[in-house]
Amino acid sequence: MATVVASPSQTQVTLPSTKLLINGQWVEAVSGRRFDTINPATGETICNVAEADEADVNLAVKAARAAFHTKAPWRRMSASERGKLLNKLADLMEKDADNLARLESLDNGKPYTIAKAADVALSIACYRYYAGWADKVQGKTIPVNGDYFCYTRHEPVGVVGQIIPWNFPLLMQAWKLGPALATGNTVVMKPAEQTPLSALRVSELIQEAGFPDGVVNMLPGYGPTAGAAISRHMDIDKVAFTGSTEVGHLIMQAAAETNLKRVTLELGGKSPNIIFADADMDAAIEGAHFALFFNQGQCCCAGSRVFVEEKAYDEFVERSAARAKKRKVGDPFDRRTEQGPQVDDAQFHKVMSYIDSGVKDGARLVAGGERHGDQGYFIQPTVFADVQDNMKIAEEEIFGPVMSIIKFKDMDEVIDRANRTMYGLAAGVWTRDIGKALAISNGVRAGTVWVNCYDVFDAAAPFGGFKQSGIGRELGEYGLQQYTEVKTVTMKL
Ligand code: ADP
Repeated sequence: MATVVASPSQTQVTLPSTKLLINGQWVEAVSGRRFDTINPATGETICNVAEADEADVNLAVKAARAAFHTKAPWRRMSASERGKLLNKLADLMEKDADNLARLESLDNGKPYTIAKAADVALSIACYRYYAGWADKVQGKTIPVNGDYFCYTRHEPVGVVGQIIPWNFPLLMQAWKLGPALATGNTVVMKPAEQTPLSALRVSELIQEAGFPDGVVNMLPGYGPTAGAAISRHMDIDKVAFTGSTEVGHLIMQAAAETNLKRVTLELGGKSPNIIFADADMDAAIEGAHFALFFNQGQCCCAGSRVFVEEKAYDEFVERSAARAKKRKVGDPFDRRTEQGPQVDDAQFHKVMSYIDSGVKDGARLVAGGERHGDQGYFIQPTVFADVQDNMKIAEEEIFGPVMSIIKFKDMDEVIDRANRTMYGLAAGVWTRDIGKALAISNGVRAGTVWVNCYDVFDAAAPFGGFKQSGIGRELGEYGLQQYTEVKTVTMKL
């Protein structure tokens, strides 16, 4: 296996296969094309990877369809055996945890320590959680009128296309593969073009675990080519997508224009994080900092509209700016690093242009605002105060380390303003008053509400969006339901 040395830290990283996985074989793309994947800490090329397009998607779907055949090994396998395979995959990932975390850090830019403690650990937990479900997916017997025996079966949807983003490559892969495989589907997955490496490594481990050929097919490639080929394919039964709301619209449109494949979407957000003056202010300031800056601000659920009650506003602004200035930005492999680079040049420029727009719109810049260093895609942790609801930085998803602090006066007003957005992914509230916590939790239209905490994820707790933040839920039992069709069988007695 090839290894590379990640600069600037000189860490050794072992690379996975850089081909496509189709029907259990590692193959070059039909076109022979390859694309570079970049180390965002330096802007240098790590390696190149086979680039899937429509022809490869067609081959992968054929393999996945054959693997889904009722007589194929995967369909003949008992549910508990599927669970064992998922647990085996989790075991292999545990053994490979260091290198998986290094790959994730190298390709995405996130700090190695966080990749290891969060991304790798939560991914393993997700596979184990769904391994446990494999033999517990069951239908009902229904007491219908007349002399009939009626029951339901929860059957796999079929061939599932899964398109994942670059912000949590390993974890998004686990959220998608875990429930799909536990319920007996077969998969054609496209990792994001920015971060194909950890997905390829997990595919090697899937092979090693002994999943039958064609059950998981892995196709690195670009969205408008390979991704679009998946979403309009006539023989894919469902597409599960995580990414931007804009692309979510395209995926749904493609499904509508072709075979009405089932669509689940986990999209963007502009989540309100509401701080009342009675909150434990130390916890709220640190919590709001984490809610926004975690993962370089590249979280769909980032607490990016920080609403602070008037009485606490000035203190909150001052202390949040001080905390942001202390945030340690730099080499992802340095163990003290809290924040690495943005994932690529395009994201870097997009975030910098939002910072410019905040300044132009008259928000008060109290921390950061500039590029960090002179190589790679690092951005200083940035805080704006006196942000108004109608400023672009308060309305649009920035997906970067830019906090907007907004003032509010009372409960009804803040609920109303928090909901004035097309998004509804998540929200936070910080208060010592249970009444306020419940009023916000009930009043805010979002798929997840965190009270006196933020970004607490567990494989058992569902996650997903209201409104244009998505359709369906991932994780937990709710996530499982999105990967089965209900069949009703009625038998004359
Ligand atoms: P971002 O803007 O954060 O990169 P995207 O929504 O563009 O988010 O990307 C998320 C995933 O969707 C990636 O795997 C990307 O390749 C894929 N993608 C992008 N455009 C399309 C498309 N037109 N059809 C299908 N998938 C796409």
